[in-house]
Parts: sequence; structure tokens; C-alpha cells
Amino acid sequence: MVDEMTHTDESEILIVGGGLAGLALADYLAHQGHEPLIVEQAPQWRDSGYVIGLWEVGLAVLDELGRLETVREDAADPKGYEVRSSYEGLLTRTTLPAEQTLLLAIYRGDLHTALREGIPDDWIQMGTSPERIVEQTDRVDVTFDDRTTEKFSLVVGADGVHSTVREQCFTDWRLREYDMYIWSLRTSQDIDIGSDMVSVWGPSSEGFVTRVGDRVGFNLAARLDIPPEPPARDALRAQAETIGWHLPALLDGTDETRSSTASAM
Ligand SMILES: Cc1cc2nc3c(=O)[nH]c(=O)nc-3n(C[C@H](O)[C@H](O)[C@H](O)COP(=O)(O)OP(=O)(O)OC[C@H]3O[C@@H](n4cnc5c(N)ncnc54)[C@H](O)[C@@H]3O)c2cc1C
Repeated sequence: MVDEMTHTDESEILIVGGGLAGLALADYLAHQGHEPLIVEQAPQWRDSGYVIGLWEVGLAVLDELGRLETVREDAADPKGYEVRSSYEGLLTRTTLPAEQTLLLAIYRGDLHTALREGIPDDWIQMGTSPERIVEQTDRVDVTFDDRTTEKFSLVVGADGVHSTVREQCFTDWRLREYDMYIWSLRTSQDIDIGSDMVSVWGPSSEGFVTRVGDRVGFNLAARLDIPPEPPARDALRAQAETIGWHLPALLDGTDETRSSTASAM
């Protein structure tokens, strides 16, 4: 057994990745009396990140875990969903019922913090990643990047799109590459975008805009042959101009010097 681990030695379940899926699973397991160990490769948690829209399934999971009311405190509860076109303006608007929550919009970091509330700190080992996972007949041996090895009954890969667990344990998968590039930004500017969640469709691009609290979170997605190096402000500016609506003005309120989150999907 590993001396460095502060977690109980009885841990039978390893969850690799302390993201949204890993934490939600740990919370479910805790409700069933298990004490999983979560290893997270990041040395510390990230800040607020992009806005996530939680629809029926996400809301049901949070409700089951008893986290819905905590999440609601930091979330926006849009009462409409708009689809706009760069050329034609408003294409359609769906009204969401006032008496019912069908959609919550929340920054990823706030959702992550709410999920963490259900997990004791000593279940999470930060700055740790598996280097070798070997399935035996009665257990799984996992060697971590500090060269220590532990045995588990079950190992769950919740380590995101570039999963190490998937790479180590499975062969029947293939990577599908998309030429979609996404910038995620936030601004505190006083621009009236209304209270709806808004999707603006431009040519080979989309702007996705939501007000959450005193900030507007927006994503710009664009189909690009060659992904630019972040923060790629020139390419970002060109996309905002192409999509139009309030996106160029929203971009004006973002921090030029800070690298916006950009991801190729
Ligand atoms: C811009 C953007 C907008 C989105 N909007 C929405 C939305 O509106 N609604 C919605 O439902 N979804 C949305 N998504 C998708 C949603 O964010 C993902 O589905 C969700 O984050 C996946 O959760 P996860 O826990 O599987 O992975 P992640 O959240 O990526 O977490 C994986 C975790 O594993 C850790 N990790 C990785 N490798 C290792 C390793 N080797 N060892 C240990 N730890 C490791 C990572 O550091 C991370 O903490 C959006 C995604 C993006 C990028």
C-alpha cells in the first residue's frame, strides 16, 4: 500500500479524473456507502471556465445527488432560448415555463465546486495520474506517476477527451478529429443581451451567449482548417465580426492579455 496516500487503505474503487463526471460518480458512490479514491492530474482546480447549459438529464442528476439547490444559487435560469442568424436576425424563440426549471446556465467552475461539496477532501489526490493500469483476474494494479502501485477492484476512467484510461485499457476505439475550434470568454460589460440563452449562427461558426449573474459568458465556435495558437485574438476578432449580433461588442470587454480558453474538438 502507498504511504503517501492520505486516503483510507480500504479504497476499492479508483476514479481517474476529478472533472464533472468523476465527482458526480464519486457522489453517487458515496450515497451507496463506498469511499472511492479520485486521482486528478491537475495540481489545483481551475477557475470558473465556460458556461454550461444544464438540461433535463443534468438537472435530474443534480437533484438525485441533492445538489440542485446549491447549483441554482450560482446559476442563471433563462426563461427563453433563442436561435439567431447572422443575416436574418431572430429565427426562433422557445419560451421556457416560468413555474418550472428546464434549463440552468452555470460556469463550469461553480458547478464543479457544488459537486465537490459532496466529496471529502481526503478522497481526492491532486497532481496524480496513472502511468500503468494492469487488469489481473481478481483486481486491477495501478502504478501512479510517483511510481507507487495500488490494487483496486474497479478503475473508472473519467479523465476527459484525451483519456489515459481509455488509451491504456481499451483497443476498440479510434480518435475522431473535428475541425471545430472554440473560444470561451467572459465579460462584465453592461451590454443588454436580454435574459435568454442565445445561439447565433454564422457561416461555419456559432456564437453562444448567456448572462450568468453580473457577467456574460460566451463561446465562439468556428470551423478552421488549421487551429491557431491560443489566444489567437485576430482570428477570434474576425469570427466575432463574421457572426455579428453583440459578439464584437462583447469581445471588446474581454481581457486582451489573458489567454482565452481555446480548444480544438
Ligand atoms: C466550450 C464548451 C462548452 C460546453 N458546453 C456544454 C453545455 O452547455 N452543456 C453540457 O452538458 N456540456 C457542455 N460541454 C461539455 C462538458 O463540459 C463535458 O461534457 C464535461 O466537462 C465532461 O466531463 P468529464 O468529467 O467527462 O471531463 P472533464 O470535465 O474534461 O474532466 C476530466 C478531468 O480529468 C482530469 N484528467 C485528465 N487526464 C487525467 C489523468 N491522466 N489522470 C488524472 N486526471 C486526469 C482533468 O484534469 C479533468 O479534471 C461543453 C464543453 C466545452 C469545451
